[in-house]
Parts: sequence; C-alpha cells; structure tokens
Amino acid sequence: MTAGLMQTPPLQIIDILKFAASAHARREIVTRLVDEPMWRYTYADALKRAGQAASALKRLGVAHGDRVSSLAWNTHRHFELFYAVPGLGAVLHTANPRLYDDQIIYTINHAESSVLLFDRNFLAVVERIAPYLKTIKTYVMLTDEARLTPGTVGALGYESLLDKESTDFTWPVVEENLGAFLCYTSGTTGDPKGVLYSHRAVVLHAMASGLASAFGFDAFDVVMPCSSLYHATAWGLPFAAPINGCKLVFPCDKMDGASLQELITSEGVTFSGGVPTIWTMYLAHLEKTGETPGSLQRVVIGGSAVPRAMAEGFKKKYGVRVLQIWGMTETCPLGVIATPTPELAEAGEEAMDEAIWTRQGRMQFGIELKIVDEDGRDLPWDGKNSGALLVRGPWTIRRYFRKDIDATNEEGWFDTGDIATIDAAGFMRITDRKKDVIKSGGEWISSIDLENFAVGCPGVKIAAVIGVPHPKWEERPVLVIECHDGVELTEEAVQTFLEPNIVKWWKPDKVIFASVPLTATGKIDKKVLRGRYSDVLGDVLGG
Ligand code: ADP
Repeated sequence: MTAGLMQTPPLQIIDILKFAASAHARREIVTRLVDEPMWRYTYADALKRAGQAASALKRLGVAHGDRVSSLAWNTHRHFELFYAVPGLGAVLHTANPRLYDDQIIYTINHAESSVLLFDRNFLAVVERIAPYLKTIKTYVMLTDEARLTPGTVGALGYESLLDKESTDFTWPVVEENLGAFLCYTSGTTGDPKGVLYSHRAVVLHAMASGLASAFGFDAFDVVMPCSSLYHATAWGLPFAAPINGCKLVFPCDKMDGASLQELITSEGVTFSGGVPTIWTMYLAHLEKTGETPGSLQRVVIGGSAVPRAMAEGFKKKYGVRVLQIWGMTETCPLGVIATPTPELAEAGEEAMDEAIWTRQGRMQFGIELKIVDEDGRDLPWDGKNSGALLVRGPWTIRRYFRKDIDATNEEGWFDTGDIATIDAAGFMRITDRKKDVIKSGGEWISSIDLENFAVGCPGVKIAAVIGVPHPKWEERPVLVIECHDGVELTEEAVQTFLEPNIVKWWKPDKVIFASVPLTATGKIDKKVLRGRYSDVLGDVLGG
C-alpha cells in the first residue's frame, strides 16, 4: 500500500474559532440579549471567552465525552458554548424550547447531561421541569451577576463563572469522529430522536456551506442567523461565518419583522437565513411600513417549502435573492441548495428564476442523492419520476443516539422520509413528506404544490393541505387557510384563484379558514390538522 504522505490533524470545531480569532481578529459579533443592552465584541474576544467558559465547565466537572444541555436563544453566549463544549471534548445538546415540557425532559434525560445552561426568560420552564431531570447537577443562567435570579434550581450566573477563569485556556486535542452536538428531531411521530454530529461532520459541512456554489460567503458579508441555534446548529452558520470572516449578528428571541428590520439596517446585514414563517412576517412588515431591506442581498430559506410568491416578492420588489435549501437534522442539516447554473442562465433570467424558485435545490459535493421506487429500485433523473429520497455522505447520519442498529441500509443510504424528483442537472424537488402525501383514486396529490399555489393568493398568510378520508377516492385534499390580519377571504375567491393553476382533480374538496398550528421547528403541524378535520368531508358528502 502506498499511503499518502500528508499531515492528518483532526478536524476540530475549536480550530474554526481559533482561525477566525487570528485571521479575522477584529471582525465583530453583535447580539441582542433577553433583557440586557446589545453586546458587541470581536472573534478574538469570543475565543477568549469560549476558553473561560470551557474552563468554568471543566471546574463544574464536565469531562471528555460528557453531555451538557442548553436551553437558549441566538446570542453570543450560546455561540460561545458552541465552541467551549465541543472544544472540551464534551457534547452540547441544544434543547429545543419550543417542544412540550415532556419532550424537553425526555431529551435532556436521554442525553444524560450534567449541566443545563439557560437564558433568563426560561427560568419558569426550568423550574417546572427540574424535578424530572435525572442527571442535571448544575444549573447556569446565561446572564450577568446583577440580573441573576437563581430560582428554585439555585442557578449560578454565567458571567460570574467566566470572571473567575483565565482567558488562555489550553484546548485539548480531540479526535475528529468524537461527538460534538446532540440535536433531536422534533418528534412529530413518536419520541424525539437524537442525531449526534461529529467534529468532522460539522467542519466539513461548514467548509462546504460557505462555498460560492452554496451560501457564497466572503469577508464582507454580515450574517444574521434567524434559524435557531437550538435547531440543527442554525444550519451551521455559526461555523461557516467565522471560516469566511463574516460579521455575525444574533437576534436573540426577537424574530418579528420590526426587530429584524432594525438589526438589518443598523448592522448592515447582507445575508440571513430562516424558516418561511419568519420571512412571511418580515415581508408583511415591509409591506405595512413601506420600508426596504437596505443592505440585505441574500436570504436562505428552508425547513419547509419556500412559497414561489415569497421568492418572487423578495427579488422583484426588493432585489434580494432567495436561496432555497433542503435539509434535515439528520444531514447537519444542509442537503441541497438552489443556486444558478450556466445552463439555466442560457434560457434567460426569467426562465432561470422560475426553475430555481420551483425546486428545493441542486445537489452539492459531499451529499449524494438518489430516488427509489417502492421496491427500492433506482428511478431516473428526469424531473418527472418521483420516489423516496435517499442521501448519504460525510455529514449524513449513520445511527441515532443510543440506538443499536444503523439508520441506513448496508450501502450507507439514509431514507429521508421525503418524496422527490431529481432532474438531469441534479436539481431536486420535494413533492411531499411520505406521511403527508394525499392518495386520491390511486394517484398522488402533492400537498406542497397545492400549498404553494394557495399561498400565492392575495391575503393568504399560511396555506396547509391535508388528505382527509373519503369513501370513494380514499383521500381528498382539504385546504386550511390562515389569512393575514384584517383580511377576509371566501372559499369561492380561493377556489377561483387556484383553478387556472391546478388540474381539476387536485381542487380541494373544502377550504377552511382557521389558524394553522406550527410544530416546534416552525413547520405546519399536519398531525394536529388531520386530527381536527378528519371528518370535515362528512358535510360535503351529505353525512
Ligand atoms: P423536524 O424535526 O421538524 O422534522 P427537520 O429540520 O429535521 O426537523 O425536518 C426536515 C424535514 O423538513 C425534511 O425531511 C423535509 O420534509 C422538510 N424540509 C426541509 N427543507 C425543506 C424545503 N426546502 N422544502 C420542503 N420541505 C423541506
């Protein structure tokens, strides 16, 4: 065997911050906080404080391989933990505060964390769940001494812990396949499942996501992650931004349109990312106030399908480019990203926009895709055949945390639970989640496509389509619509809007106007809607 003769340092997450602290030392990190003034410092300062945090956690008994949980918003302190905990060789479990208490308890117990660090406005939740947490020994409130309220859990204050530590922590060398982040899926079916990201997966994912063919970062970018740090590491932005020397702006928990607009204009944000609901609120704010997004150039949107009307509105009205991504907790989470290609550009700008707005994204180096039929046979990449979407690669899950069997088949393919088409250029389009697809008269109706058309109807804020049992057709689509504030729509108006866009048999059997429930990760909660409306076609069918 002729071995390569190059160096093999482990890919370690802390090296990203060490690099930024040296190559982009004065680039800023700016953050809103729960109830403190804005905080502003540099990558060089962040590395020192991450070292103090690591030192403090070590003093609290956190050792190599241990788990630590956070219940926190998008702030510089949470960012510091993103480096301090893996840098120690421990694992950061980012608990999702939008889960039900029982699920938060489940994930922290499942992680067997010894320390829980939380933002001040989670004190009530923490006090409520503390009696059920089996392994937490120390509670730390992410605040300064003046604002510390220890509560019934006797929380220590983060700032006073850091104050006691020196800023030149000696980071241990950690093995690149060691676990670094423990992210749980939202558990829409069954208990949440733990996905344990390794240092290697996180670093490779961060290097790939900043590329010109992906997010396209450079040192002039000002990046504001509006995807949550607790949900799949905010799409890896806390790593991709420092690698590229981008300024980071954290919005804390204030994701409403007015608050985001204020940060975008005051900090010169060029790039942001978040789920569609955040951008619906943001666009509504611009519409209402007549303001414009100023410095904002690109917005990456994913987690749910990006309504075509949203991508078009951003571009045509404000000159902001929408980059749709598809991914999941199990893929760290970036899977594909919709960026232009020379072949598409040949067809002209309008055709290119259309192609990009109607697809989830194009395959990226590092994540292989394929679609298969019900017998597991490969389907062609013709943009028409749809099948189960399988993925594999260095940042795709192999096995869930504490499970005995692999989550992949023998060849390493992971079944995403999504149904998709792929075209000859490698553009992938999700038509549905397997469990949401509507089976009508032996054919499939794509709930995502129908929602996408319906949300283009003026006045519609959220459109959700579910399959409701039907004696003749097995299932028929029912459309649930939440309107923008102060708007009233009729079923007839919505059906008239849909008619030219869809084939006849896709026409919803009923349109319901109601508020649409969202899951802990901001997706439409179809389980709740199916439960609520399972017999609404009773009236349509005459009892
Ligand atoms: P959850 O815990 O809410 O399931 P994930 O982020 O892991 O959180 O969800 C991943 C799923 O979200 C994907 O399998 C897919 O169904 C959906 N999804 C993500 N991005 C998109 C997108 N751009 N378009 C349509 N669906 C998407």
